[in-house]
Amino acid sequence: MNQAPIGILGGTFDPVHNGHLRLAQEALEQCNLAAVHFIPSGTPPHRNAPRANAIQRLDMVRLALQDNAAFVLDECEIYRTDPCYTVNTLSALRAKHGIHQPLCLLMGGDAFLLLHSWHEWKSLFELSHIVVMQRAGHPLGNAINGANETLRDEYRTRLVPAPRILRESPAGAILVANMPALEISATDIRKRCAENKNIHYLLPDAVADYIQLHHLYT
Ligand code: ATP
Repeated sequence: MNQAPIGILGGTFDPVHNGHLRLAQEALEQCNLAAVHFIPSGTPPHRNAPRANAIQRLDMVRLALQDNAAFVLDECEIYRTDPCYTVNTLSALRAKHGIHQPLCLLMGGDAFLLLHSWHEWKSLFELSHIVVMQRAGHPLGNAINGANETLRDEYRTRLVPAPRILRESPAGAILVANMPALEISATDIRKRCAENKNIHYLLPDAVADYIQLHHLYT
């Protein structure tokens, strides 16, 4: 078995920004992914309802991905109103792509450190690899020492040293890859909008223009 893995990036994307896009681009290049599927969440189980509605979040992700043929918008979660858990989304993707296709769930180090709070989190490893994008200046190796003990054990057991190993099995490994630290968050962008501040260069121009046109987050 030696197939290019498919990357999966879930998020609220309220709005999508350059932190998400750079994360996806770094993973694509470093792990030789076939593509990265962006999956905007429906009603997220862990957080408050998004500020922009489903159509608006979809529109913004579509605009953000339009210049990159390797980035794919996946609408499988967005219209769901029941809590959509990543484990269910990955099961559906596994059924669609078959048992041999390597899948890589992409996430930032902050998200990984909370993985033990996700619904049926240990089942995630039966369905997918996890690629943790560690931001420069925020080494995961340090943070993991203070993390949940079971998560730490899984991390130590499953950690692999090189991206090529992700091609050799469909699921079950953890890889840590590096990315520049971009101190951008959707929360900060929404706050800037509410304060009538300029948001350019934090996210693609087309998305910034869309936010302005639709008076989002004001
Ligand atoms: P919010 O501020 O509303 O919580 P967010 O900007 O953190 O949103 P999410 O949709 O919650 O965005 O994040 C989706 C994924 O993107 C998570 O895995 C998160 O770790 C990652 N991520 C978000 N912002 C960045 C960033 N600036 N750099 C790298 N990864 C990021």
